[in-house]
Amino acid sequence: MNAEELRSLESQLSEQFDAIKQRGLNLDLTRGKPSTDQLNLSNGLLADISEKALKDPNLRNYGGLLGIPEARDLFSQVIGVKPEETLVGGNSSLTLMYFAAHFAMHLGVDGPDSAWMKEGSIKMLAPVPGYDRHFSVSETLGIELIPVALMDDGPDMDEVERLVKADPKIKGIWCVPRFSNPTGHVYSDAVVERFAQLGKIAGPNFRIFWDNAYALHFLSENAPQLGNIMDACRKAGTEDSVYIFGSTSKITFAGAGVAFMGMSERNLANFSKHLGMTQIGPDKINQLRHVAFFRTYDNLVAHMKQHADMLKPRFDAVLRGLENGLSGTGAGEWITPEGGYFISFNTLPGLATEVVAMAADAGVKLTPAGATYPYGKDPDNKNIRIAPSVPSVADIEAATDVFVTCVKLATVRHWLKSA
Ligand code: PMP
Repeated sequence: MNAEELRSLESQLSEQFDAIKQRGLNLDLTRGKPSTDQLNLSNGLLADISEKALKDPNLRNYGGLLGIPEARDLFSQVIGVKPEETLVGGNSSLTLMYFAAHFAMHLGVDGPDSAWMKEGSIKMLAPVPGYDRHFSVSETLGIELIPVALMDDGPDMDEVERLVKADPKIKGIWCVPRFSNPTGHVYSDAVVERFAQLGKIAGPNFRIFWDNAYALHFLSENAPQLGNIMDACRKAGTEDSVYIFGSTSKITFAGAGVAFMGMSERNLANFSKHLGMTQIGPDKINQLRHVAFFRTYDNLVAHMKQHADMLKPRFDAVLRGLENGLSGTGAGEWITPEGGYFISFNTLPGLATEVVAMAADAGVKLTPAGATYPYGKDPDNKNIRIAPSVPSVADIEAATDVFVTCVKLATVRHWLKSA
């Protein structure tokens, strides 16, 4: 388009944008949380479990730091470890991740001499774009974050290997290996194998933070599977190099689910020693509720199919809107995820902040630009995370139309500047 054509398009889009503002929309695509319909799938958890709970007097009492055996058995299958390698805790895996990083930093992953802080300034690798709360954990603990590009099959492993070999003060890496937050990528088998080798080439006391938060959160049943990191590590003799996390936050109730962790028995002994300083035991009644509700792993997977049936039309609504509005325009690119809670969108470099601000002005809240990068700084200012799980399909369609208009308008203004 020549400058004249761009100016005419700009005024058309500006009019559209002003018309949208008049509608006074109030839509929110910010955080990945289940809709009320999804929460309703788990209302069976509110059933009376008194008969089961009263059978074992210990259940209502203190103790059982590692979780009840039935829950360790069930949730070990979600994260692909043995029941004896599983700890079932409270309602939040983020808490377990924070504890894991805090213990590693101050108390040691394997005895007091292994405390990371003894080596001075410590670093962790952060595949980007990634999950903001992972980054906040490291930032809060004074652990420097080094971004590494996330590719279609997982983090850039050449770069990961080069960095950990070169710098023994890199002590860990954050991962969301299946349906990554926000891109939806699934790490390939080859990448999982290379992760299993990291413990051999990294400095001492290195830990992979393998946050399998979306282990079962497929949108279609033939979505790619994830290789088993613990099996791969066992084969490589590096089973102490990985902490695996998961939870039912987006399986049952986001605020009242069950979180779990998988790790070698040696790591479990060390971790639970420190965990035991923070609590006497977890909420075993909630664990029992979950076990009584699901009974088997197959039932858990069937339950996730129902979640997928509710989520898929919402994701499709965003993807349809992007495709219809932006395909072939060169104004942005996005990834079609096969699971997880997000759609990751890239504007042209430099425009994400402006698009998010324009959308807010037009009544559509989006996660702040930059949130998917350490320190909230996206060097290209282009990534925007769209979380469509909560609004209705009609609202998502409306919000996507607004988003598309904002992207087009910001892009045309940008092109005009250089025309
Ligand atoms: N990990 C990832 C990758 C997430 O996206 C989220 C929630 N958005 C969490 C962890 C939080 O998990 P929990 O509710 O178990 O603390």
